[in-house]
Amino acid sequence: MTERAARRLMLVHAHPDDESINNGATMARYAAEGARVTLVTCTLGERGEVIPAELGHLNGTALGAYRRQELAAAVRELGVDDFRLLGGAGRYQDSGMMGLADNDDPGCLWQADVDRAAEHLVAVIREVRPQVLVTYDDNGGYGHPDHIQAHRVAMRAADLAADPAVRPDLGEPWRIAKVYWNRVPRSVAEAAFARLEGDLPGLPFGKSATVEDVPGVVDDERVTTRIDGTAYAAAKAAAMRAHATQIEVAEPYFALSNRLAQPLFTTEYYELVRGERAGEQDGEQDGGVETDLFAGTEEAAS
Ligand SMILES: [Zn+2]
Repeated sequence: MTERAARRLMLVHAHPDDESINNGATMARYAAEGARVTLVTCTLGERGEVIPAELGHLNGTALGAYRRQELAAAVRELGVDDFRLLGGAGRYQDSGMMGLADNDDPGCLWQADVDRAAEHLVAVIREVRPQVLVTYDDNGGYGHPDHIQAHRVAMRAADLAADPAVRPDLGEPWRIAKVYWNRVPRSVAEAAFARLEGDLPGLPFGKSATVEDVPGVVDDERVTTRIDGTAYAAAKAAAMRAHATQIEVAEPYFALSNRLAQPLFTTEYYELVRGERAGEQDGEQDGGVETDLFAGTEEAAS
């Protein structure tokens, strides 16, 4: 192993496609730099709306199986080969949008016992031993039940994995040094939508989404960390294209099944919520913002 292979990044997401939209550039960059990147996806997105008419017949289990293949192709584009489904494929199902009867389905992630679900993740954390964990904020970025639940499971698992009294059969305790939530600074989102307004006539999408449609948007001062993934823009776009049932890409924009154009960010932003924020002396800061998720950890110095 090279020195850099000692760096291990774990990401916890709700559905196939969330990893590429939120963290595609970050994942591609760290993978290219030799870090181990592990993705844990909680459901197969069986209730997603399908964009291409020719795939419109897919739903439920068949859609989940198809999206699993899309996920495999997407992470391949990102140079990532370690991706898991929480508890194994099909263990937790897509809960659908908030307020739908789908949320009551006993097999859906929203109905899952958080501690129980977290134990599946504890096993992965203790195996991989990541220094950095990335997930959503407590509103799941935008309120989708599976995103909220993915947040709860990830945060709970980070606690449980470090506790020697918890499930010793799942491996040695491991404390994750830094936990981040996905963010987009409001000023960055606003500037991107202002550009989009001008570019819209040339795009295959009828209308523009708004800043409010972007998950994780917060006031700039809450953002602690900026990962410049510009060099990996093509990998991120290719990964998003691999999720063809869910995403249509027209760089540097994309749309979900609602056909509303939004910016495709190749610099990705985070809020550190657990662990030490790297100081200026670490030489990994730019304008007070970390530029490396591993900044301040022992591994970053290597
Ligand atoms: Zn999702």
